[in-house]
Amino acid sequence: MSSLYRRHRPQKWETISGQSNIKSTLQQEIKDVRLVNAYLFFGPRGVGKTSIARIFAKSLNCAMRIPTDSEPCNKCTNCEEITSGRSLDVLEIDAASHTGVDHVREAIIENAQFAPSKGAYKIFIIDEVHMLSISAFNALLKIIEEPPAHVIFILATTEPDKVPETIISRCQRFDFKKIPHKEVIARLKLVATEENISVEDEVYERVARQSEGCVRDAESLLGQLFSIGETAITSEMADLVLPRFYIDKLKIFVEGILKKDIITNLNLIQTLANEGVDLLLFHEQLIEFIRLIMLVKFNPELARQSFHLNDAALISIEDVAGRMSPEQLSVIFEETIDAKKWWKNARISEIPLELLTLKIAYAGSSLIPSVSHREIPSSQGHSKNQPVAEPSLDKIQIPTPVITNQLPACGTTSLLHESSNTPQPPGIISLDEIKKKWNDLLKRVQTYHHSLPVILRMSEPLEVAGNVLRIGLKYTFHRDKIKERKMSDLVEKALLDVLGFPLLIEPMMITVSTPVQPDKDAKSIEFDDLVQAFSGIPAPLA
Ligand SMILES: [Zn+2]
Repeated sequence: MSSLYRRHRPQKWETISGQSNIKSTLQQEIKDVRLVNAYLFFGPRGVGKTSIARIFAKSLNCAMRIPTDSEPCNKCTNCEEITSGRSLDVLEIDAASHTGVDHVREAIIENAQFAPSKGAYKIFIIDEVHMLSISAFNALLKIIEEPPAHVIFILATTEPDKVPETIISRCQRFDFKKIPHKEVIARLKLVATEENISVEDEVYERVARQSEGCVRDAESLLGQLFSIGETAITSEMADLVLPRFYIDKLKIFVEGILKKDIITNLNLIQTLANEGVDLLLFHEQLIEFIRLIMLVKFNPELARQSFHLNDAALISIEDVAGRMSPEQLSVIFEETIDAKKWWKNARISEIPLELLTLKIAYAGSSLIPSVSHREIPSSQGHSKNQPVAEPSLDKIQIPTPVITNQLPACGTTSLLHESSNTPQPPGIISLDEIKKKWNDLLKRVQTYHHSLPVILRMSEPLEVAGNVLRIGLKYTFHRDKIKERKMSDLVEKALLDVLGFPLLIEPMMITVSTPVQPDKDAKSIEFDDLVQAFSGIPAPLA
């Protein structure tokens, strides 16, 4: 069954999926006998470059083709020999395994001098042509520049950038595209019919989706499904071969984040793990799902096209999209992508998703911005089903933190506090314990970075919320420096060393209780040293 793709390789123009412009141009050239000596087919793998090259060659050498028609007969000796790969006039060369100049000389240049044995043309199909060595390209260039009249070259490549311009400029070029979803499905249905196997529509959708416009991959997946050995393939059977898009569970997860429903999300993660679901795959699908929410929110038509959604699925996602503000969406999108980094060191596969839930829901009192009452931007092609409602505070219940994010005017007292309805998870370490270990932390940081402790000496630990330590900084320059990924990673690494468990840090501005003197006091001298150490320019303080 693994050779499904070969067995069902299209033998006629009309059975080739996609590439309609390329097909019609080449078919017209055949009918008009208006050929060039060299063609370059470039584009992604598995989208029909070699199949079209073979049918093109077959049409040109078919002994029984009607001149006004471009289809080969597939019955004459020439056609049969080309189909079975035995033709002496149509030669396929895999440049990936024959990169050297000697092979090009023997297999192509010398061979090209002989007239075709049966057909009208001698046709060389050179696959993965970008793999040829420079000397092989030079040899090829010579014969392409002055080809014998009966010779046609078809060069195929996935990487046209690696083909010398001197070669490209002598070819008629065809840019192959990925095959549209609908055409992949049509192709799969044709293959299944020929194999006498019935397949549920949802399975076709999943195969087409998984193969991302590559027909060869799609047919290979279908072949794996057929190898299950059943005459009817159901969606449940497909789970053995294809990753399922956990759309219902993804929706529950995102709603859990929005509602700060940690219990539901932790249970969901555990259930998925118990069911043997690959949680990394789930995380990747979560990113895809959030992207889908974004598309549904701002460009429903594009969402429909890209994700091939049926109406029920679209309405269900519109429901979530309608309840998320653009700001929330942006934060959740970014944090979910960022959380992929936790997989590197996760010994327990549940941790990255658990941490993501906690981080957005709790650490995120500042991560998830309060719901704005701005109107959600409408978009072209907005579906009728799209709830245009503004995000509802009742439904989302995101507390509005009152944390100063900007440096307030000098001399005011600290405004750092949160609204009392912010739920707090059980603390894993108290602020006092952090303060006691602050000097140890500074020493540890010193071993990683010589200037970073200077900032930390001027900062203060403010609060531990869940697994996040909020650090107060008096200067925007300090805050921005600590916010840099490299720096925050170092601080978190040092925290892990000192505490024995991971904490994330969240640098934020605090107001200073005494006005900063314009004169240089001890602190401002230290500050100047610091700026020098980081070669930075401090932001104005007021
Ligand atoms: Zn024929």
